[in-house]
Amino acid sequence: TFNRYRESRKISLKLHKEACKYMPGGDTRTATYFEPYPHYIVKGDGAYIYDADGNKLVDFQNNYTSLIHGHNHKPTVEALQEQAALGTAYTAPFEKQTRLAEILINRVPSIDLIRFTNSGTEANMHVLRIARAYTQKSKIIKTEGGYHGTTDVFEASVDPNIKKAGTLDNIKVIPESRGVSRNALKDVLVVPFNDIENTKKVIENNFNDVACLIIEPVMGSAGQIVPTREYLEFLREITKHYGILLIFDEVVTFRLSMGGAQEKYGITPDLTSLGKIIGGGTPIGAFGGKEEIMKMYDPREKKMYHSGTFNGNALGMAGGIATLTAYNQDMVNKVNDLGTKFKTELENVFVELGLDLQVSGTGSLYNIIFSNKSIRNYRDVAGSYEKLNSLLFMSLLLKGVFNAPRGMFCMSTAMSQKDIDFAIEKLRESLLELKPV
Ligand code: PMP
Repeated sequence: TFNRYRESRKISLKLHKEACKYMPGGDTRTATYFEPYPHYIVKGDGAYIYDADGNKLVDFQNNYTSLIHGHNHKPTVEALQEQAALGTAYTAPFEKQTRLAEILINRVPSIDLIRFTNSGTEANMHVLRIARAYTQKSKIIKTEGGYHGTTDVFEASVDPNIKKAGTLDNIKVIPESRGVSRNALKDVLVVPFNDIENTKKVIENNFNDVACLIIEPVMGSAGQIVPTREYLEFLREITKHYGILLIFDEVVTFRLSMGGAQEKYGITPDLTSLGKIIGGGTPIGAFGGKEEIMKMYDPREKKMYHSGTFNGNALGMAGGIATLTAYNQDMVNKVNDLGTKFKTELENVFVELGLDLQVSGTGSLYNIIFSNKSIRNYRDVAGSYEKLNSLLFMSLLLKGVFNAPRGMFCMSTAMSQKDIDFAIEKLRESLLELKPV
């Protein structure tokens, strides 16, 4: 397969080699790299991307779930162009920021007040800071396999080797990257997702020191693992009881309904972080929650500091307004329906080919899992079949379908049933090829 890739991606190779002269590995995102070398994209239009070698692919990555309308969404592009001509950023508040804040607050009732950042990573940095400031405690609880961006405390137990990670009732905190501060990790406690008993133990033994519990309501990078309603309800109750703030990281899951996963599952967190789709394809993040907590960021209170040269920049606000205005209930239904069809049709293919595989996820977010055992948490999918997923990824890429190397597929409103059918047919062909493996 690599030979066929090399044959059809010669210009990409040339561009990659040149990039490696200037950037380690040729890029600035770990997640864009795949073997033998990444392709170069020159254009995106609707549901499709076009690479430098002239190949057209259906885009099921959508810049890791951040482009809800796919590429070149007309109303968003027009809003960005119009705004660019008027200025991209000013050292002053900007009315479109108020409008985007209003849109988000109307959609997410748990958010009374909101602030913007430039990424989901920064949103989580600040949501953590305000949780610490408000509770005057410093530790955090996160889930094993949970991804919350690249700050030290969050680069813990994201994709750990479970052979070295202890048992579920005593999970070891494992740094995700060299250079992560061991001291920072002393503030981190790790619990298994969907595991009431073991989560309860950690909370009961540590609540005096714990500022917040942060969770992706549907675990994304771990493999689109859905929560049980009981687990989320349990988290809401126990954190409230022990004075721990419950933070929903909805950077990815906001797309699941008009008001995010918290609306879908009927749970009200204290604080929420957002990102990805809310900037209409531009770099963005946001965090918000109860007025009583968030008002500590009011500069007149002189309690907290939060600056950022491009926070609330004009382009992000204009793009975000256009994108979210177009992401109305009909469009939410559309991507979720496409997602359901994708899941159902793919499950039919598994049955037809006699494969013990499953599709995890919900709404417009899915992952292929190379096992049929029931999935509750990270350990049920950990490290498993990474090789098979990357083989499948490469096979699909060569057939014109672009998903994430770890098996993730997300839908955009630019897609139609035709694109789903195409992807399913290519998945069928690829799985048949892989069957002997
Ligand atoms: N939280 C979650 C759940 C994410 O998936 C991501 C990014 N994939 C982030 C936070 C970090 O966002 P960003 O990449 O914008 O820093």
